[in-house]
Amino acid sequence: MANPSNSRSPVIAAIATPPGRGGVGVVRVSGHDLANFAQRLTGRFADSSASPQVFPQARQAHLCRFLAQDGSALDEGLLLYFAAPHSYTGEDIVELQGHGGPVVMQMLLGRCLELGARPAEPGEFTRRAFLNHKLDLAQAEGVIDLIDASTQAAARSALRSLSGVFSEQVHAWRDRLVDLRMLVEATLDFPEEEVDFLEAANAFGRLEALQSELVNLLARARQGSLLRSGLQVVLAGQPNVGKSSLLNRLTGDERAIVTELAGTTRDVLRESIQVEGIPLHIIDTAGLRDTEDVVERMGIARTWKEIERADVILRLVDARTGITAEDHAIDSRLPANVPVIWVFNKSDLVEPEAEVATQELVIYLSAKTGQGIDLLRAALLRIAGWEGRGEDAILARERHLIALAAALEHTGVARHSTAQLELMAEELRLAQEAVNSITGEFGADDLLGAIFSRFCIGK
Ligand code: GDP
Repeated sequence: MANPSNSRSPVIAAIATPPGRGGVGVVRVSGHDLANFAQRLTGRFADSSASPQVFPQARQAHLCRFLAQDGSALDEGLLLYFAAPHSYTGEDIVELQGHGGPVVMQMLLGRCLELGARPAEPGEFTRRAFLNHKLDLAQAEGVIDLIDASTQAAARSALRSLSGVFSEQVHAWRDRLVDLRMLVEATLDFPEEEVDFLEAANAFGRLEALQSELVNLLARARQGSLLRSGLQVVLAGQPNVGKSSLLNRLTGDERAIVTELAGTTRDVLRESIQVEGIPLHIIDTAGLRDTEDVVERMGIARTWKEIERADVILRLVDARTGITAEDHAIDSRLPANVPVIWVFNKSDLVEPEAEVATQELVIYLSAKTGQGIDLLRAALLRIAGWEGRGEDAILARERHLIALAAALEHTGVARHSTAQLELMAEELRLAQEAVNSITGEFGADDLLGAIFSRFCIGK
């Protein structure tokens, strides 16, 4: 279990808004005794309104001057005070909303340091929130994911994690696992009852149900993981079939160099686009052909590396020639486990009667006119397994996927260990431990360090 941060842990301060000029800039301070801190910063002890009260009032905006040590004004702005434990970090928080200039912000921060704060480390506010049980680990990760979200779908999904939807599902699943563990362990203590006892409680049926729910949770987490990291899509085909043109068509700009000379794309080009909120990283590659040119050969070698790492290969051929002998040579080297979409490009140059029938993974299109591009986008989404399930995806991280997969494996072993109840109990315990690691209930310190160090300062 996480330890609460010490109630006397040092006061920390940071500029919470991004560097540069802005209408408002925020300095955030967290720690203890911050009412006193606010009084010293503003020189105010009583509220100046009609019926004076002690300053500052929690959760009220006070228009104040922020004063330097010699009493001169550094800035004028709003001061907000949140008294522990009703704050983001669970400690006292003071937020200073000043004018958003870099010099003003530095001066305000400097003044907070003079008053005893120390500069906050990246993610330290959220770390304290976690240590004070304001957020669990999956929620804390939701904070950074929301800040980093590159698409609207990713942002919505991060907010669901942040607001605890994912954690609730994990907890619900864990609670049922705990019930089951209690049953199995009780049976161990009363061996004469043995399997009858478990059967009466339908323990095996419950284990099966838990397992299928976990499969579902894992599938949704994988979807969410896709929202974070996107799909690697590699364009592969002979020179001049239109790979760069297709990249340009998909990205809508002229990033890749298009020429009529075979072998112009010698290096690997990447562009990221989004289709229905899914990031697709499209990688254009050197045309695959036998060549004596040393530089081109290096490009081709890199192409093969990209192909091996791809989530999907767009296998381009010229619709006029169809699949040729050279194409067969390429195909014999394609990795068997990466899905392939066949793209017959330059459809504008062939007579309609020569059209290849469009099938699920065979698309007939023209990079030049754009005809058929929508079919390709839809096929990419299908391969991603997206199927419009964005609304319930969980913005999972690799860490969550590994934990869920481990829990699934342990429950699987448990299911086949009904003849050895000790083993079954142990496997269920391991499954619970794996699931707990998602919300941080068994988080090792190095894990916490790795997670929070990726935050921005002031968060
Ligand atoms: P890459 O070598 O595979 O990257 O091929 P490019 O994208 O450089 O294209 C080679 C040539 O084919 C260029 O002259 C393009 O303008 C042309 N091209 C590409 N796609 C199409 C298409 O759909 N229709 C037509 N008519 N020409 C195309």
